[in-house]
Amino acid sequence: MVVLEEPLKEVLNLKNYINGEWVESNSDTSVDVVNPALMKTIAKVPRSNAEDLDLAVQAAKKAFPRWRRTTPLARSRYLFRLKNKLEEKFEEISRIGVMEHGKTIDESRGETRRGIENVEVATGIPSLMMGYNLEDIARGIDEYMIRTPIGVFACIAPFNFPWMVPLWFLPYAIATGNTYIVKPSSEDPLSQTQLFECLDEIGLPPGVCNMVHGGREVVSAILKHPDIKGVSFVGSTPVGRDVIYKEGAAHGKRIQAQCGAKNYFIVAPDAVVDQTIMSTMTSFFGNTGQRCLSGANLVMVGEDDEFYDRFMEQLTDTIKRIRIGYGLDESVQMGPLRDPGKKKRVVGYIEKGMEEGARLLLDGRKFEVVGDYPHDSFLGPSIFDKVTPEMTIAKEEIFGPVMSVMRVNTLEEAIKLVNDCPFGNAAMLYTSSGKLARQFQYETEAGNIGINIGIAAPMAFFPFSGMRDSFYGDIHGQGRDAVQFFTEQKVVIERWF
Ligand code: NAD
Repeated sequence: MVVLEEPLKEVLNLKNYINGEWVESNSDTSVDVVNPALMKTIAKVPRSNAEDLDLAVQAAKKAFPRWRRTTPLARSRYLFRLKNKLEEKFEEISRIGVMEHGKTIDESRGETRRGIENVEVATGIPSLMMGYNLEDIARGIDEYMIRTPIGVFACIAPFNFPWMVPLWFLPYAIATGNTYIVKPSSEDPLSQTQLFECLDEIGLPPGVCNMVHGGREVVSAILKHPDIKGVSFVGSTPVGRDVIYKEGAAHGKRIQAQCGAKNYFIVAPDAVVDQTIMSTMTSFFGNTGQRCLSGANLVMVGEDDEFYDRFMEQLTDTIKRIRIGYGLDESVQMGPLRDPGKKKRVVGYIEKGMEEGARLLLDGRKFEVVGDYPHDSFLGPSIFDKVTPEMTIAKEEIFGPVMSVMRVNTLEEAIKLVNDCPFGNAAMLYTSSGKLARQFQYETEAGNIGINIGIAAPMAFFPFSGMRDSFYGDIHGQGRDAVQFFTEQKVVIERWF
């Protein structure tokens, strides 16, 4: 067992980053950031208040006129510098991600890479931001559309991809000429601090990017602040729908709220068994199930009992071998949950599943950890079968390493399950048939569709979609959608005498 070196040696007192400076919060309360594998405090994060947020807004507002006049090409050059800086710090950022969140080093490297890809795409802003024109809309009159930045935007991030999620928005926001504020998750705000150290080192003008730590008070201040023009949120459905979307819209802001999920992973009788089972490992148990694109309900299509029994036996046998431990050990395949509270919640769902009559084929409460680590946040993978759609474990977002298996006779029935689900984030089909795949992608109402892909994560140049309770707003994050979200379309019609 070889454990990689930890990049952090002492407990850090985190600060806000406002107007190009690291500043103490006005509040004197803080929250401990705990490494969930070691159960050791690694940092203290301030519970900032509305006053801190206002300082950031004032800095961003002041920086806006000059930044807006910085040419798109010059803004893009800052992003090229950021990309280079992030590559230099790639391994350090990834290891900090493991320490603060608990994911494995490979998962964390994947997260770092996905964040950088958004910076890369946003460097193309001189082309991405172009409008269009038409001469002679009437004799001697031309008309054109130009995209202009709007002002100060903010993002509110979740705990599960604490480094990457703000990068779904920030690069596009500043590339298009807006200024920005990030409110990281207080559960794991260290890698985001690394991002801001990189932004500081590339010499971005003060006020263009700001970071304010904190919880509900800062969120509420963001939603009400008259100088914030739009908010990107990623987190749970109750917060996204009932707090962010409602209050933000009531205060006249553009809102995009990417929310919770309950994703279906459907296996057709002609699926390639070995590859399908390998994919379930990452889809259901990668990031310890704490991924909005994770598989949650596995639906086996077909009436062949023998195929079903063989598949389930091979599946259970594979999943029970997953190596659980500290993510800095490169041999480990699954880390702990983010904290003991989240473990308790997932264990509650396992108990509920048993109470409601599902059959527990693999009990994640019995597990072994590679290495001598406290077990407080660790939990093994669980598999239930004989799950029915009305059971709690089939309906609610568990956000942990639990697979619920159902059976249906036809693909149509499987598609109905997906379409009847209140969430619509992702749906995956494993099949060898192009016809079934076409039918699935055509009839399924979910934002991100995977055909023989277990995690249907859109690349940075595609929108991160999501439907129904998984997304509130109109314009999605990433790629061209991001350019639209962060710009106003101005239409000019002109005639010269
Ligand atoms: P969360 O909703 O608890 O928190 C998200 C953010 O909102 C945090 O910054 C938090 O400080 C703030 N917040 C929490 N409660 C609040 C309240 N009552 N009022 C105001 N602000 C509040 O979500 P989480 O637990 O950090 O993240 C997990 C959730 O995020 C899951 O539901 C997951 O599916 C979802 N998620 C969705 C996507 C997507 O793209 N759809 C991506 C990642 C995560």
